[in-house]
Amino acid sequence: MRIKIDKRNVIIMDIGLRRIINTTLLDNDGIIKKGNFLINKQGDYRISNGDEDVIETIDGSNRLFTRSLQNWHTHMAMILNRSMGEGLPLEEWLQKSIWPVEKKLTKQFVEIGSKAAAAELISTGTTFACDMYFHPEVVGKVISDTGLRGIICGPITDFPFTSNEQDSDSALNQVKNLISQGSSAPERVEYGIGNHSVYACSEETLRKASEISKKTGCKLSIHTSETRQEVADCHASTGMYPIEYLDSIDYFTEGTVCAHCGWVTKKEMRLLASHGAHAVHCPTSNQKLACGGTMSYPAMKEAGVDIRLGTDGAASNNSLDMRAEAKTASLIQRHDHWDARILNPTETWNLATKGSTDWVTWDLDDIRMRPYGKDGRRLLSNLIYSGAKCLDVFVNGEVLRRNGVTESLNEQKVAIELENAITDYYSDI
Ligand SMILES: [Zn+2]
Repeated sequence: MRIKIDKRNVIIMDIGLRRIINTTLLDNDGIIKKGNFLINKQGDYRISNGDEDVIETIDGSNRLFTRSLQNWHTHMAMILNRSMGEGLPLEEWLQKSIWPVEKKLTKQFVEIGSKAAAAELISTGTTFACDMYFHPEVVGKVISDTGLRGIICGPITDFPFTSNEQDSDSALNQVKNLISQGSSAPERVEYGIGNHSVYACSEETLRKASEISKKTGCKLSIHTSETRQEVADCHASTGMYPIEYLDSIDYFTEGTVCAHCGWVTKKEMRLLASHGAHAVHCPTSNQKLACGGTMSYPAMKEAGVDIRLGTDGAASNNSLDMRAEAKTASLIQRHDHWDARILNPTETWNLATKGSTDWVTWDLDDIRMRPYGKDGRRLLSNLIYSGAKCLDVFVNGEVLRRNGVTESLNEQKVAIELENAITDYYSDI
């Protein structure tokens, strides 16, 4: 299926902001092609399953088209923990708010939480999540069924956890099976390995995970250098900082996803770049958990690291809205470095949508998008700093959301299920 846009002067933002004058075709692979199509006098764009077969028409007026947002670090089902234990210090927050819930987790709760997270991602214009959480097969099914894209990383720690009551070998075998089975939507969803961190996984476990990645080509995902304590502990026990240590045990494979990277040396940045790793900036989570530091974007950029953006779970952010995360990233980097030129709107948006081949539209009638400015030059800044309602979401040529209503899942039903789960099982927390 292709998306045909028949509106004159439609505003499309790909790399930079450009105004497309003639009718345009957005292909399944996300490439913009100029098409020889009749211009619709009503200014509508159409959903087409071929160059000629228009199967329906949608009101396309007053929409800004952009690439979709990409969330590179999530624990989707942690939406169950949203707004719990507010204001508690990290250790107390984990003990009173997070771990009691995770002890009670069942597949059903993970499904309910993941669906609610999928609803939030879609309604805020995000089409991809790199997730790490318990019962990854359930998360993978939700992502597949709701039309999103994802890398679903099965969690690995040396201690037992809710979806694995044995040890890390057992957890690795579970994930290995998932990887060999694949998802029900292989063109959009793949499974990977989520080593929790250098402090929750032994050298042997990390090496085994890396071996599986080398054999199967699956992605590795790991929390790295999130807190100063973690970095100090790693250095005390190994004589190396976490990324140096991971490099020394030959952990990295192509495109390893390193979440946070808040406390890294320049040497470690060069290592990340040499391995083609994705370093995921999670500025809201770092600030909310009072980590005291977050990624240094300019230094990472200078070292040639591939930087991505993520919210972390809704527990440590309260939101999965990547537009808001883009704003936060821009603000914290400028603030930290005393430099207002860092992460200008175009660079910020490219960071938040990097790698996307999908499209979303934003409501130009939303007052937060005003004023447009001459030739729409203020629109991008308005979208990042002020906000706008997401109207439509297209993934792989399919419609997930249309005219402000998500169609690939029932948002109201999902919200009620989430509310009931919280009321019935977590009311004491
Ligand atoms: Zn995380």
